[in-house]
Parts: sequence; C-alpha cells; structure tokens
Amino acid sequence: MAKCDVCGNDYDKAFQLTMAGRTHTFDSFECAIHSLAPTCAHCGCRVIGHGAEAKGKLFCCAHCASQSGVRGLDDRV
Ligand SMILES: [Zn+2]
Ligand SMILES: [Zn+2]
Repeated sequence: MAKCDVCGNDYDKAFQLTMAGRTHTFDSFECAIHSLAPTCAHCGCRVIGHGAEAKGKLFCCAHCASQSGVRGLDDRV
C-alpha cells in the first residue's frame, strides 16, 4: 500500500505522479493539487488548468496576467 506524500493517508487506491523527474504518491487529487499545482502570480489561487505564462510567471488566467502588467496575452486553451 502506498502512503500519500501530503497527508500520510495509507490508501489502497493511491496513485503516483511523476513531475520533473520526481515521483510523488497521493491518495487524492486534492492532495496532488495541494502539493504540485503552481500558484497564480497575481491572485495566488492554484493553477489547475493550462494557465497563462508570461515573463517567467504563471497566471491562472489572462485577466490576472493583464492585472500584473502583461499585455496582449490570451487564454491558452
Ligand atoms: Zn493525501
Ligand atoms: Zn489569478
């Protein structure tokens, strides 16, 4: 059985995710997002979708990017 990296829950349906060469074990997507999802550089929320990247920063949406002074960015789908 695998233990969740975040909450330590021992769960028989745990899954593993490999990101940047490191393998993580989670019991739920909630824990996976908590551990791995990047945060928006403007509003601080978790970026679960594709997000918008500009000038080396990641935003949850084009609106947040424009609020941070990034111009001409559209939502990437
Ligand atoms: Zn967990
Ligand atoms: Zn945002």
